[in-house]
Amino acid sequence: MSNRILIDPQAFAADRETLQGSVDLGSLDKRVWSHDITDLSSVLHYSLSGGKDGWQRPFLALSLSGSLKLRCQRCMQPMDYRLDENVRIVLFSHETELDEAMAADETLEGMVAEAETDVWSLLEDQILMALPFSPKHEHCTNAELETVNQNKPNPFSVLSGLSSD
Ligand SMILES: [Zn+2]
Repeated sequence: MSNRILIDPQAFAADRETLQGSVDLGSLDKRVWSHDITDLSSVLHYSLSGGKDGWQRPFLALSLSGSLKLRCQRCMQPMDYRLDENVRIVLFSHETELDEAMAADETLEGMVAEAETDVWSLLEDQILMALPFSPKHEHCTNAELETVNQNKPNPFSVLSGLSSD
């Protein structure tokens, strides 16, 4: 946790500051590991910059890129996954302002700016939003394994069988 970077987002945006760096997945919070990531040494590059949008609202622009290894949910083998995210997070002072803005614009990404915001936790949030729910090879070649898996009882159907008794 010692390498974590804290910023004041409002000041960061007002001063149009920029910040760049890279981080390996193993240094991030465990909540990002659970999503079928097989290689925690994968490095992600990020850049963060502050500014004001057309409505004079402060924002943070975050770019995040890197190659990850995810576990294919069909054959259970690792697959390469390219992460390339660009997001603009508009800053609000109060929850009610954020709610109103989100209601008016469904595509808006926003957050309530805390005086101390952890840059890595912003990264973690973006990674979690970007990762596919059930990653699969586009052309999964391991058909043999797939057949084996299909012949195994699905743990969820076993569970639902139990609960219906
Ligand atoms: Zn596969």
